[in-house]
Amino acid sequence: MEKGLLDQYADVKNYVLKHSLRQDDLLKELQDLTQNMPEKSMQIPPEQGQFLSMLIQLTAAKKVIEIGVFTGYSSLCMARSLPADGKIIGLDVSEEWTNIAKTYWQRAGVSDKIDLRLAPAIESLDTMIANNETETVDLIFLDADKEKYLTYYERSLSLLKSGGLLVIDNVLLFGSVVKHDRLEDDMPSKLSKASIIEVDALNKKIVDDDRVDLTMLTMADGISLVRKK
Ligand code: CA
Repeated sequence: MEKGLLDQYADVKNYVLKHSLRQDDLLKELQDLTQNMPEKSMQIPPEQGQFLSMLIQLTAAKKVIEIGVFTGYSSLCMARSLPADGKIIGLDVSEEWTNIAKTYWQRAGVSDKIDLRLAPAIESLDTMIANNETETVDLIFLDADKEKYLTYYERSLSLLKSGGLLVIDNVLLFGSVVKHDRLEDDMPSKLSKASIIEVDALNKKIVDDDRVDLTMLTMADGISLVRKK
């Protein structure tokens, strides 16, 4: 599970979770299973899943894209909050990871709300753009390979409706965006220099981007809420 900056304030964090987190047995089982995998740091923390669920409710989103499905925790949380005619288009390249996701979507009874597309996400996004789906998407959750974040950002803005919401995960990259060299020793090993430079560049771009409204949250590993004007 990702460790957020606020995790250093363990007592506060524990209080927050005790007084806000609602995680049922199915989500807990999926969390525990994923935490036994080598890629466990890619799983969002449960409070972030609950936050995504609330964002779906607040925006009344019906057409959602998730860029980076992994084992399905976030898509499961979002799908449960979607109306019966809502749909998540889930983009990932890993059959192994998404097979786990599929199992839990089925058990939660939300499989019919999730359209999984196994291909490089940029290809899938370009296909949607080519199929005249620009300006049709209500909400996009971006949580895929960080080295491509600038590209994902532009594709996402094309696909979102005016007023649509882009939720970008890991915008702080364990604090490494603050000072690129600082965390070389204790950073997760797969966090590449290229990914730090890319995410930092995207953060710098968005704050000056007149096409969007913006809030950056310090929840989890940093989450930017970007609303297309
Ligand atoms: Ca993430």
